[in-house]
Amino acid sequence: MRTIKVEDVRKAVGELLRHSAHSLPEDYLEAMRRARVEEQSPSGQEVIEILLENASYAEAETVPTCQDTGMAILFVEVGQEVRFSGGEIGAALQDATRDAYSDLRKSVVSDPLLRVNSGDNTPALIHWEIVAGDGLRISTLQKGFGAELMSRVQMFPPAIGEEGVHDFVLETIETAGPNACPPLIVGVGIGGSLDTVGLAAKKALLRPIGSVSEAPHVAKLEGELLDAINGLGIGPQGLGGFVTALAVHVEVLATHIAALPLAVNLNCSAPRRATLEL
Ligand code: SF4
Repeated sequence: MRTIKVEDVRKAVGELLRHSAHSLPEDYLEAMRRARVEEQSPSGQEVIEILLENASYAEAETVPTCQDTGMAILFVEVGQEVRFSGGEIGAALQDATRDAYSDLRKSVVSDPLLRVNSGDNTPALIHWEIVAGDGLRISTLQKGFGAELMSRVQMFPPAIGEEGVHDFVLETIETAGPNACPPLIVGVGIGGSLDTVGLAAKKALLRPIGSVSEAPHVAKLEGELLDAINGLGIGPQGLGGFVTALAVHVEVLATHIAALPLAVNLNCSAPRRATLEL
């Protein structure tokens, strides 16, 4: 067994969240630089330029990339040969979130009906997975809820087929329009059940931009969806243009013969994503 100190995890995750709030992933910035060249619409070009300037200003000045500093969503992969010492790991991850958000906007309410702000951006939403080995890998999304609000999940019968998947994804993007703050990263989950399809769509947002599915039929679908989305004309920040999305990532899961669960999770132009391994 390998022992990992809970305090080490708390410090590392706190630092990761703090850094990620003002420093966008390099693959996203690279995709935006390519988009600046591909975009033909003058307003679209201008928006991409402003977003790139904003990203580099945030990085240089250590200020958040967006006023909505998001809700912390953590994906924790724990090796089955790991034991934690010196505390409770779940509580430590909440402490890390609390620390990281001490000088960031507090965007979490403790109860969706009473709407009282939790005051420290907790709870972080934590997804646990036990994996082989003795490693610990934690990925984070600091998810803006403009894009989350425009995301959708629906249970379909299998008869909708791939055509129905296309229609649902495109309808989601069209309905979102400017409200999800494009250029988007589009995570699509297909299969599983009501609970797991949404998680698959969210995990798809962890993939680096430019990655393609290992399954050829899924990779083909990703390419077709990206072309179709960029044919909608919504453009950067919804002001018209070609680059409505930078990437479409599709994750598929085994499902029941009676259903085709489908989820679309959108990420916005402040896609705060980071990973650490201990
Ligand atoms: S959706 Fe993203 S870019 Fe838009 S306001 Fe929210 S965090 Fe900011």
